[in-house]
Amino acid sequence: MAELLELIEKTRDGISLSLEDAEQLVTSITDGSLPDYQLSAWLMAAYCKGLSLEEVYFLTDAVARSGGQVAESLGIVDKHSTGGVGDKTTLILAPLVSSLGVPMAKMSGRGLGHTGGTLDKLESIPGYQIDLTNEAIRAQMEQIGVAVVAQTGELAPADKRMYALRDVTATVDDISLIAISIMSKKLAAGAKNIVLDVKVGNGAFMSSLESARELARLMVRIGTFHGRNVRAILTRMDQPLGFAIGNAIEVNEAIHCLQGHGPADLREEVIELACHMISMAKGISVEDAMLEVVDALDHGSAFHQFKQWIAAQGGNLTAIEQDLPLAPIVKEWVSEQEGFVRSIDTHAIGKVALDLGAGRHKIDDSVDLGVGLLCFAKVGQSVKSGDVLATVYARSEQHAAQAIFQLQQAITLGETNVGHASSAILDTIVSQDEVSL
Ligand code: URA
Repeated sequence: MAELLELIEKTRDGISLSLEDAEQLVTSITDGSLPDYQLSAWLMAAYCKGLSLEEVYFLTDAVARSGGQVAESLGIVDKHSTGGVGDKTTLILAPLVSSLGVPMAKMSGRGLGHTGGTLDKLESIPGYQIDLTNEAIRAQMEQIGVAVVAQTGELAPADKRMYALRDVTATVDDISLIAISIMSKKLAAGAKNIVLDVKVGNGAFMSSLESARELARLMVRIGTFHGRNVRAILTRMDQPLGFAIGNAIEVNEAIHCLQGHGPADLREEVIELACHMISMAKGISVEDAMLEVVDALDHGSAFHQFKQWIAAQGGNLTAIEQDLPLAPIVKEWVSEQEGFVRSIDTHAIGKVALDLGAGRHKIDDSVDLGVGLLCFAKVGQSVKSGDVLATVYARSEQHAAQAIFQLQQAITLGETNVGHASSAILDTIVSQDEVSL
């Protein structure tokens, strides 16, 4: 067996780790025998020298098994988003696809930094329980075919340690490390069919289409190599998805979408992702899946399933009969000029919600579930004087004024129209053939 130092030297010198090396490295990360300073050095070596495809396959598999055996799959499909602003698609997709007979058990995380987390959003529904025992999840899946719960510590614990150190060693934005992190958790969760929503733009990890495609291809290859069906959908994140950004406010918008309404870009993206999930799980064409998906959204079955799911996890259905209540200080940004929306700094918009209290700077910060904003501006949209570009829900006048100021800096208006792609969907990458070593 190699000394741990030798593994760091290999990666530093661009020599590929063998299967045995990868196993040893990940075991030492999981059991703590590799101290933080050595793991940090290995991460930086991997960041600077890159990892071979072979190493990425080996490491992903070892990280996936770091919590024990890969879980017996409770759902047939799983989805993952690389993270963005206003991304509430899981809240809609879980009841939507399960209403069509495709079980979905999803482990979700909390928000950190400028992106929100599904668990925080769900907790804005009074009573909703995120921590279920395995037996309770299994029973709920048998009964209604849907569950969304907190990720347990046993799911790929090596990734938890690596991610925490990447965050403080400037090694987060590396395609191989991101792919290992995401795919190890997806493999560990067990689903056979996986749809990846890879966000592209100034509110995402990947700001260019090329880098997003590279990440998507790599994740699809990893999944395919490990016997899963994987599709990656590249979607725009150069503006928030939908209008709502926050927690309760995003649940309200997700419910509108489940009732057949809601912002056009959100509905388009949900339908696209759902069609791929249904098509993979049922082995039917995306076009045939589309008929089922649109029908479930527009004729109430997806919303009916949402209510069953929320009730099963202890959520109070009376509370969602109307929109969930929001913070009391409401301020609008009303345009004083005519023109067009030229650009939106999506990361900065996420920061507005974060500063209002909707997110956390550190993992143990608490979150204000009622604050947030509706950002109505979309790139390329024409604006008239008097149009409301955003509405802010805050706890104090000062926070509201600060948020409006930040929004005015983040959204650029101009006299000419820069135009904009009409669709939120940029590309689709399906399982590759060339996955063998
Ligand atoms: N999401 C993850 O889970 N891991 C990463 O490295 C990046 C995004």
